[in-house]
Amino acid sequence: MPEVYDVIIIGGGPAGLTASLYTARARYRTLVLERLAPGGQVATTAHVENYPGFPQGMNGVDLSLRMLEQAERFGAEVMYDEIERVELGGPVKVIHGLGGTYEARAVIVASGASPRRLGVTGEEKFVGAGVSYCATCDGALYGGKRVVVVGGADSAVEEASFLTRFAAQVTIVHRRDQLRATPIIVERALANPKIQIMYDTVLEAIYGERAVTSVAVRNVKSNATETIAADGVFVYIGLVPNTGFLRDSLPMDQSGYVLASEHDLSTALAGVFVAGDVRPKSFRQVATAVGDGALAANSVEKYLSGVTKHE
Ligand code: NAP
Repeated sequence: MPEVYDVIIIGGGPAGLTASLYTARARYRTLVLERLAPGGQVATTAHVENYPGFPQGMNGVDLSLRMLEQAERFGAEVMYDEIERVELGGPVKVIHGLGGTYEARAVIVASGASPRRLGVTGEEKFVGAGVSYCATCDGALYGGKRVVVVGGADSAVEEASFLTRFAAQVTIVHRRDQLRATPIIVERALANPKIQIMYDTVLEAIYGERAVTSVAVRNVKSNATETIAADGVFVYIGLVPNTGFLRDSLPMDQSGYVLASEHDLSTALAGVFVAGDVRPKSFRQVATAVGDGALAANSVEKYLSGVTKHE
């Protein structure tokens, strides 16, 4: 029989690690289940400069490891497993992973979100051979090369600037005539001589033999198409929630984000809460994920101590 934890937190990003810090510090037996490495998306971010307390900014991996260290210091356990399915309806929640089964009296779903795929010809074929969703991970492979970044919001424009540390030329391909990213991020990109921007343009195919050599783009206003030489394609076109393992166990919105009360992050099921990018929210930041983690942990504490009763 597996040990029954007080709370299991699915996901070890900023939301999950913050929740675990709070519940462990409140002396609840806390297990964090993480599929890969601590930090989630922030661990794939080169430089986080809008998280308070680090005036010079902080490397995303280092920030993640600090959060992990702090949670473990108060007794949170962290295990690495990929969750396949869950049974959340009863008083004891059962979590099935590839490596084992885990049980707890309360659960916080903090499984985050993953990069959305473009869905164009060549994308799947060249993942790891020129197509990437993580400039921090793969950018250094493109020293002196030409890369294309797809997208026009914070991630695309910020990571395009980061890629200029290595690449000779970075071309942002954006489907509209205006970037959506935060002004300070846009200002830096516009001032960078290595960055050029193709507005009103969509990327339609990725070509190469063993690795990427070019991409096909189309101007959506003129319909003109062209093939441009490229050694790498970095895709930053938004996120999809990591909720496949939940299947039909919790109510979700049309995009698969888990619905929860804004007041206490409770879901439709007693003892089940959500935190971070896995829920619908208007502003996805490390700071807002951390806030979610603290709130969900507080709600778990109230639930476990019997202060709140589920209606
Ligand atoms: P996002 O904000 O959802 O933006 C997605 C971008 O991709 C938009 O520019 C969108 O175009 C474009 N796009 C979407 N689908 C597309 C498609 N099929 N083909 C071509 N382009 C497509 O995604 P994100 O930049 O990954 O950011 C995710 C969240 O993290 C956001 O909340 C963001 O603010 C946050 N974030 C914050 C920071 C920071 O604060 N420094 C850094 C990174 C990320 P349109 O503009 O035309 O819609």
